[in-house]
Amino acid sequence: MNTTNTTTPTIPTPSFDGYFPTWCPGCGNFGIWAAIKGAFKALNYTPESAAVVFGIGCSGNMNDFLWVDSFHALHGRALPTAIGVKIANHNLPVIAIVGDGDCYGEGGNHFIHACRGNHDITVIVHDNRVYGLTTGQVAPTALKGFKAKSTPAGIIEVPVNPIALALTQGATFIAQGFSGDINHLTDLIVKGVNHKGFSLVNIFQPCVTFNPITSYGWYRERIYKLDQTNHDPKDMTKALTRAMELEEKIPIGIIYDTDRPTYTDSLPQLQNSTLIDTSISTDISGLREEFI
Ligand code: SF4
Repeated sequence: MNTTNTTTPTIPTPSFDGYFPTWCPGCGNFGIWAAIKGAFKALNYTPESAAVVFGIGCSGNMNDFLWVDSFHALHGRALPTAIGVKIANHNLPVIAIVGDGDCYGEGGNHFIHACRGNHDITVIVHDNRVYGLTTGQVAPTALKGFKAKSTPAGIIEVPVNPIALALTQGATFIAQGFSGDINHLTDLIVKGVNHKGFSLVNIFQPCVTFNPITSYGWYRERIYKLDQTNHDPKDMTKALTRAMELEEKIPIGIIYDTDRPTYTDSLPQLQNSTLIDTSISTDISGLREEFI
């Protein structure tokens, strides 16, 4: 029997970037992708206007679908890479796009110190509470008891609280969004990028394939929007109260917003020019005399 398939394969319609995402149909990453592109458009960015550093994970695959100058870092190492770019050229907007496992798990140490330093980068976290790319292991923000391939009896640890962590470690702009509300999320990303200092946009992103618990419906039943009538983002105590709203009702919007000198603002060596514009003396005779 001739089993040759003569059907013409369906070729996905390319996006305007030239590549079509490989994410599962219905994945929350699509909403975040749309919001990031909308934010870049609102900011009048061209591909070379900013540097974007991606982590590893389903979120990191956006590296192939976003037309921007970018770098795909090692797992957990997107933030130190982004900080390195920022210190080299502190006039360049720098954005890190990462997942919750990448940022709060493997890269948790870097996250804490990026907050402390008030490094002027924007960190956009796809928080799906599971490792999707590696087919469904438990992630740092998974709810207690979540059963995954790596925890068939349910996870014992309590989840990492990204908002409380960022708040107590010195982040100066903290927002939380939902991939199912693209317009609201776009506005949060624009405000995060425009903020001078470390900004976090933690995004609830349903993983429709490996996390049946925190679905679109689960979030829609719980999230509510913050505005000037129900929250003051300048008040750290109120922000901490919002950060502890984790399951029954969950806030989205700007949770904290304050001013503090950035890391590069505090370096006198960078006051007159960027590091990449600073000429390097080739005369090392003084050093040689000192050390030899
Ligand atoms: Fe999205 Fe989950 Fe599929 Fe990854 S595994 S593309 S996070 S739905």
